[in-house]
Amino acid sequence: MAVYFFDTLTEYSDWVKNKKKKTVGLVPTMGNLHNAHLSLLKKSIKENDISVITIFVNPKQFGPKDDFQKYPRTLESDIAKISDLAAKMKLTKNKHVVIFSPEESVIYPKNFMTTISISPLNSIIEGKSRPGHFDGVCTVVYRLFTLFKPNIAYFGEKDYQQLTIIKKMVEDLALPIKISPIPIGREKSGLAMSSRNQYLNSDEKIQALKLRNSLVELKDYLLKNHYEKTVQHSQKLVKADPRFNYLEIRDAVTLMPPEKNCKNFVILGVYQINQTRLLDNITVRIK
Ligand code: AMP
Repeated sequence: MAVYFFDTLTEYSDWVKNKKKKTVGLVPTMGNLHNAHLSLLKKSIKENDISVITIFVNPKQFGPKDDFQKYPRTLESDIAKISDLAAKMKLTKNKHVVIFSPEESVIYPKNFMTTISISPLNSIIEGKSRPGHFDGVCTVVYRLFTLFKPNIAYFGEKDYQQLTIIKKMVEDLALPIKISPIPIGREKSGLAMSSRNQYLNSDEKIQALKLRNSLVELKDYLLKNHYEKTVQHSQKLVKADPRFNYLEIRDAVTLMPPEKNCKNFVILGVYQINQTRLLDNITVRIK
C-alpha cells in the first residue's frame, strides 16, 4: 500500500493507466483535515483499491461575503495525517491512496463556462443565505467525477443539504456512481467536527453546544408531538437566541416541507458565533 501525491491530471493519468481494472473511491474535501474527514477516507480505503482524496478550496462555492481567502490551507499537515492513517491501517500492497491537490486551472481550465444548478434545492434552507454556493459545489463535484470516474464517492451527513443535492445530481444525470453517506463525526462534547471550530475559543465551543442540544430537544419533541407543534417550538428557540440563523424541519429525502404522512424528518440548524456559522442536523424517524 502506498500514498501518492499528485497536483496535475497528467501525473494521475500516467500513474493510473498502469493499474489493472480497480475500484476507485473519491473523497472530495477542501483540506484542513480533521478526524471526520479521515473517517470518510478510511471507509473508502476499506471499500476500494484506489482511494482519491482531493484537497481543493473551491472558489466557486464561496460567496462575496464568505471566507475564501481566509479558509485554512494546511496541505503539509493534511498529507501527514493521511500518511499516518494509511500507516495505521496496515494495508495490503494492492491498496493505494492518492492525494490530489490541484491548482484552480486544473479543475477550471481557461474559459470554463459550465455551471451545474439543481433547482430549487440549491436555493432553500442553507441556499437562501448562500446564493450560488450549491451550484459551486455541484460544479466542482461533477468535475471531480468526470476526472476520476469513481465507483463510489463519500460525503458527510454533516452537510446534509449538500449530500441531498449531490444524490439528486447523480440521479438526474444517471451518473454511474454510488454515493456513500458518512455519519456526522463529533467531538466528545457532541459538537460536530468542522474546520470552522478552530475559529472558536473554549468558551465559544461551549456556547456552540446550544445547536446540538436544541436539535436533540427538537427531535424528542417531534417524537412526542405533531410536526406543526414542533415547528412552533423551533420558532420559539430561534426567537429566544439571535445566534440561530435557522432551525428547519424538513422531509429527510426531499428537503421540502413535510407532507402529512411524512415519517422521515431531518432537522437542520445553523448557529452563528461572531462570523462563524456552525452547521448541524439530526434525523428523526417516526414509527
Ligand atoms: P469540507 O472539506 O469540510 O467541505 O468537507 C469535506 C467532506 O467531509 C464533506 O463531504 C463533508 O460533509 C465531510 N465532513 C466534514 N465535517 C464532517 C463531520 N463532522 N462529519 C462527517 N462528515 C464531515
